[in-house]
Amino acid sequence: MKDILKETKFLMKKYHLTANKRLGQNFLIDNIAIEKIVEASNISCEDIIIEIGPGLGTLTSYLLEKAGKVIAIELDDRMIGILKDRFTLYKNFELIQNDVLKVDLDSIIKENSNFKTVKIVANLPYYITTPIIMKLLEENLKIESIVVMVQKEVAQRIVAIPGSKFSGAITYSVHFYAIPSEVTLVPKTSFIPEPEVDSEVIKLDIRKNAPIVLDNKELFFKIIKASFMQRRKTLLNGLRNGKILKNKEEVKEIFKKLNFTDNIRGEELTLEQFAQLSNEVNKLIS
Ligand code: SAM
Repeated sequence: MKDILKETKFLMKKYHLTANKRLGQNFLIDNIAIEKIVEASNISCEDIIIEIGPGLGTLTSYLLEKAGKVIAIELDDRMIGILKDRFTLYKNFELIQNDVLKVDLDSIIKENSNFKTVKIVANLPYYITTPIIMKLLEENLKIESIVVMVQKEVAQRIVAIPGSKFSGAITYSVHFYAIPSEVTLVPKTSFIPEPEVDSEVIKLDIRKNAPIVLDNKELFFKIIKASFMQRRKTLLNGLRNGKILKNKEEVKEIFKKLNFTDNIRGEELTLEQFAQLSNEVNKLIS
């Protein structure tokens, strides 16, 4: 087994590099966590892996051994130099220097349509975890799965059952597009520098069909957002403050029809109940 801690320290020293906290740079030094990420991704030579934030290339080197192609997207030009030095000899390696939020992933995937499956793998920069995950899901990309390391607290929200007390707006958004599952917990000691929080690897298997019928998808997500704007508020207040419906009586009418109590909170609703609510509101406003 290679000594990743030694390799990471060696690379940082060789390139006179210190981790940039603003870019969420916490380098993974845990072989077992890396093996679990690779195993959960179930990689074959027919797959393209898009890796977000390869950093020094620790995880990348494992992906390159298994995948048909690895496309790595990294923002920090100091990392770009290291990645080029390490992997230019690999024919299945492509590097994109850009902010992943600005990259046209759909075009990249279409350009590589000779590969059977596209999978996303990443130890994500934590300062933009949610925007990255939502981009990957909302752009309706032709991808099969996403295996990512995120903060443990974010992971717990994502894998929570919609309608349970841990659910938040991201729970519903993710469950609409994917089936999430937990892969492994990763303690903060598995990184250098050590982050302030523990982490968890999760897998999102992208759904082929939507699990609920929506008359107005945009409204559905707007309602979810409004319902979780102020966590301790009731759903009724959330809908009014989020300017979904101004008239309290109209909301109460809908609640009655759907058998919701007046003081029900957003996190008590299942995905199906949010769909019913959204479809009823849509009837009223359209
Ligand atoms: N994959 C490496 C590892 O596991 O050790 C590094 C992971 S580190 C948590 C996150 C990486 O994402 C860093 O290399 C950082 O430079 C990169 N990054 C930060 N913001 C980014 C962005 N907007 N687009 C692409 N990469 C970004």
